[in-house]
Amino acid sequence: MRFPFDNTYARDLDGLYVPWEGAKVPGPEIVAFNHGLAGELGLDGAALDTPEGAAILSGSTAPAGAHPLAMAYAGHQFGGFSPQLGDGRALLLGEVIDQSGKRRDIHLKGSGRTPFSRGGDGKAVLGPVLREFLIGEAMHALGIPTTRALAAVTTGETIVRQDGPQPGAVLARVAASHLRVGTFQYFAARREMDKLRQLADYAIARHDPDLTRAPDRYLRFFERVQDRQADLLAQWVLVGFVHGVMNTDNMTISGETIDYGPCAFIDIYDPNAVFSSIDHHGRYAYANQPKIAQWNLARLAECLVPLIAPEDLDRGVAQATEVLERFPAIYQEKWLNRVRPKLGLTGDDPADLDLANGFFAVMEGQQVDLTRAFRRLADAAVGQPDSARALFLDPAPFDGWLEHWQARFDADRADPAQRMAAMNRANPIYIPRNHKVEEALSAATNGDFGPFRTLLEVLADPFTERPGLEAFAAPAPDSFGPYTTFCGT
Ligand code: AMP
Ligand code: MG
Repeated sequence: MRFPFDNTYARDLDGLYVPWEGAKVPGPEIVAFNHGLAGELGLDGAALDTPEGAAILSGSTAPAGAHPLAMAYAGHQFGGFSPQLGDGRALLLGEVIDQSGKRRDIHLKGSGRTPFSRGGDGKAVLGPVLREFLIGEAMHALGIPTTRALAAVTTGETIVRQDGPQPGAVLARVAASHLRVGTFQYFAARREMDKLRQLADYAIARHDPDLTRAPDRYLRFFERVQDRQADLLAQWVLVGFVHGVMNTDNMTISGETIDYGPCAFIDIYDPNAVFSSIDHHGRYAYANQPKIAQWNLARLAECLVPLIAPEDLDRGVAQATEVLERFPAIYQEKWLNRVRPKLGLTGDDPADLDLANGFFAVMEGQQVDLTRAFRRLADAAVGQPDSARALFLDPAPFDGWLEHWQARFDADRADPAQRMAAMNRANPIYIPRNHKVEEALSAATNGDFGPFRTLLEVLADPFTERPGLEAFAAPAPDSFGPYTTFCGT
């Protein structure tokens, strides 16, 4: 089988990766295939969703013309620096140009050991592979930049993990690129300045080609990465997404969400929500995420300083710092622009920031489901606030806020029904509820893919309410208990 590969990483970045091949596996079998995405990539889905395709997408057989490789990167993990991480269980299979002309990586996760594996077995198991498939596709349908899943392939192996033997699996995923903050850190830490510059020029050509000839391109590239990350974080926070492991090797240059490990969605609004079993100090807690993004960007800035002002590092530091200090204001602006449609606000009244913050303030401590609160607010836009009010333990603060909200509308006089419809296009009714995700993954691990397929289908259209799907819109029952996610992927 031939892929229309055009592999710039392999061609242009010699020394920044190791050419490598996937491990042979006994029985590759496709258990989920994304035909829509295959079409978008210009691939022949019918030819790929076959035993031959399964061998390729598990990494067991390299397709003709492929030059698979393991990328080198470093990373700050929970604040501590690891100078060498890299693709320890993944391969960049190759790059293709999609139907809209965009370059996309096809990458295999779980394809066996590489020179970067350290103590790991190079494998992935079915539950976490399907979780990444599901959450990535859900994020995409929510309109949030993300890597996407092309296929999940079981390998026919049994892999032993903390919670016992598991079916082995590989995720074939697609990304705008796999460049991470940690990729820059790898070469900066080794003081390999030529490679660092090569990498930065490559990243600019790929993600910000309009800056290619700009004399201050490295500084402006940093601004762009910051801008994309600020917007991404605003979107995470507004849907209640908690990434769980925002290490610098899990933060992209493209602005796509990457590496769905111990991630989760909050139900009850709680700024301190943490789900990951290893995040003991709440470093990556829900409301801490924008600050962590800025911290990660500071690590990127450190790498770029010698490129920003090679002759005068102090000046480079000052310039990068000046950009970095704008992060909170940029984040706030992105957040405000994204929360306005959720609140049915048109125009840009300067009082909107307080109004929007006020909604979050009245939710705090009230055991309010974030997704439902926004969704039901649309009823209030047509004069029926009771469904939203019913979510609050004590509705008095909400009622107070509602008066301000309604007063804001009197100013812009939009049609209420239109406002309601617009709000329903901005506030999902279906998100990946943690208990539904767990239910789907545990059924699939036991051989029943029905619940996984159903959930995937529900989440593909998160804004349109459909009869019969009430259970997908409801928070977890009390019996589900507190939710904990694990890194054991
Ligand atoms: P992640 O937690 O998936 O972001 O991975 C962090 C680092 O650990 C990356 O360098 C991975 O390639 C590596 N890694 C994670 N799991 C394994 C594994 N089972 N075998 C080898 N390397 C792994
Ligand atoms: Mg990672």
